[in-house]
Amino acid sequence: AGLAPDSTTTSVCGYCSTGCRLKISLKGGQAVNLTPSANYPVNLGMACPKGWEALAVLDSDDRASAPLINGKPTDWNTALDTFCDRFQAIQNKHGKDSVAFISTGQITCEDFFLLGSFAKFGMGTKHGDGNTRQCMATSVVAYKQSFGFDAPPYTYADFEESDVLVFIGANPAIAHPIMWQRVMNNTRDPKIVVIDPRRTETAQVATRHVPLTPKSDLILLYTLAHCIVRDGRIDEESLARTEGFEDFCDFLKDYSPEKTAPKCGQTVAELESLARLVSDPGKRVSWWWTMGVNQSYEGVRTAQAIINLCLMTGNIGKPGTGPNSITGQCNAMGSRLFSNTTNLLGGHDFANPEHRAKVSRLLGVEEDRIQDSPGYAYDQIIEAIDRGEIKGLWIIATNPNHSWIAQKKFAHIREKLDFLVVQDMYQSTETAQMADLFLPAAGWGEKDGTFINSERRFGVIRQVKQAPGQALSDFRIVHALADRWGGCEFLKQWPTPADAFQALKALSEGQPCDITGIPDYQFLEEQGGVQWPFPAAANAAPPAKERRLYEEGNYYTPSRKAKFLFDHPSPLAEPTCEDFPFILLTGRGTSSQWHTQTRTGKSKILRKLYPEECYLEIHPDDARRLGIADRQTVTIASRRASITALAYYAPTVQPGQVFLPMHYPEVNQLTHASFDPHSRQPSYKYCAVKVS
Ligand code: SF4
Repeated sequence: AGLAPDSTTTSVCGYCSTGCRLKISLKGGQAVNLTPSANYPVNLGMACPKGWEALAVLDSDDRASAPLINGKPTDWNTALDTFCDRFQAIQNKHGKDSVAFISTGQITCEDFFLLGSFAKFGMGTKHGDGNTRQCMATSVVAYKQSFGFDAPPYTYADFEESDVLVFIGANPAIAHPIMWQRVMNNTRDPKIVVIDPRRTETAQVATRHVPLTPKSDLILLYTLAHCIVRDGRIDEESLARTEGFEDFCDFLKDYSPEKTAPKCGQTVAELESLARLVSDPGKRVSWWWTMGVNQSYEGVRTAQAIINLCLMTGNIGKPGTGPNSITGQCNAMGSRLFSNTTNLLGGHDFANPEHRAKVSRLLGVEEDRIQDSPGYAYDQIIEAIDRGEIKGLWIIATNPNHSWIAQKKFAHIREKLDFLVVQDMYQSTETAQMADLFLPAAGWGEKDGTFINSERRFGVIRQVKQAPGQALSDFRIVHALADRWGGCEFLKQWPTPADAFQALKALSEGQPCDITGIPDYQFLEEQGGVQWPFPAAANAAPPAKERRLYEEGNYYTPSRKAKFLFDHPSPLAEPTCEDFPFILLTGRGTSSQWHTQTRTGKSKILRKLYPEECYLEIHPDDARRLGIADRQTVTIASRRASITALAYYAPTVQPGQVFLPMHYPEVNQLTHASFDPHSRQPSYKYCAVKVS
């Protein structure tokens, strides 16, 4: 009875990009338990284990409750002085751009806005990026180049309204389990195709699994396009709203199934029947991708090969269709629009003088403080540290000493930095342990703001707990730093997240992501979230619950037409060889742990649902040939490192391939640092290893 709640509120979940809403019961303003919201158009009363355990992880022993200097507790005044004195000393000696920041996809839109404004217009550095470079950069660039703006077209109703759903490099049954439930709600007797080298949890229940050779996806997609052109299964109406199709047809001549089938590990007949299935004019076909496509050295062209297929078959802008990138983190899309890293705030362009003038006017910041290009990407920041160009780094809510590709490279650059600041909920992460200065942050559940989910829906998160000790919200930390830094008076216009939301609205005006029709957080809560765009005129009527883009066929390019973009595949960055004969695949291993387990590892229940020790999935034939017993400890070595793990016999991986889940800190010691040339996204999905 002592815990009987006296009120309730709602908050969107802070893990994945599905954006489920949770109903939270409070006593005296503090959360006591939660349940999924039944009346929210996203999750329809469901949540995955991570959502159910969202409150439990806030109370762990290693929550940061005070600032730390070299691991020793200090007070905020000293911490703020140290931040400003050390970074300013570096900038005075080496120039403004000698410091950089790396943030996340886990903080709110309002946090992103304030952080990006302070770092770039206040501190004056050009260089900042986020861990969204590791997950969504490929889709951002692919959409932007093809459609003129980073605008995923779909709504979750498309899961329920498709006749054919093609999942490529995506495993929603565990990675996005509530989206997968939406697929299960589909009553159209859909065909579900999974294109993936592994027989994943999703592939196991699909109508058809296409176990392609790793990284032959681009060739396979071009082959499908070749067959569709050859057989004349083109949607002329859709094609009229595109440009570049004739050149694409010329290009496709090299991709006959007879030529490509051996490279894809498929037969000619299998490729041809797949081409017929995805171009059936009587069917609604939707394509869904995540990291199997994005985390590739040629991810942008692969995503665009999917877009090309949808454009040529008319599968866009209609119910149950679309080239649909599913984002990873809860606010990856907020980062894409408001972090001030790749794009100038509000999806604007740093290189466009009109955009710089607009942002300058709206923020009241001098135009010459706005850089005319976006600065370095994540990997370029690491390289710049390595060569001594960047001397100071501020990391917010991410853990590169676990997650960065070829992880030792990150550990190595620590020695090159004069000053490292880490801002996080937990002082125990592998990266926090390296910090000169640690700033304790409130987490999800301890602050207000908005997230944008995969289907472009703004949702509200609410403070339902007091953050421990001296921990402050990221929003308040940035304000405190800006006050101490000096010259940042313009940021005082937005003392609260609700005020900053009004700035986001102003920045979005006239953009494809226009949200000027959303008055405030209360409206978002009452409407069950709102998908962008929602311009002011739309406010006359309640927003439709589900809205998709390109229904009128108007794209955001200057010609208003979508572009066919393509390139021949590049060679593998690290092919297998006699010494390293296995292909290492990495990815998500469970629905119960999140990324580096920084938060979810704190829940006793979630820990019980997943092995604590790193494991390797290996085909039983390979294991027996090497004399490896099931559950025996093995060594996995790449050219960069060697680690140990428990070998699990797994017929779900093909012979010659092995799989390691990304949730364990040692895994990225093995991965090979190669990057997509357009998006700079790291290629986590393929490197050569040996197992013994
Ligand atoms: Fe929903 Fe994702 Fe949260 Fe699970 S982690 S409850 S699927 S938003």
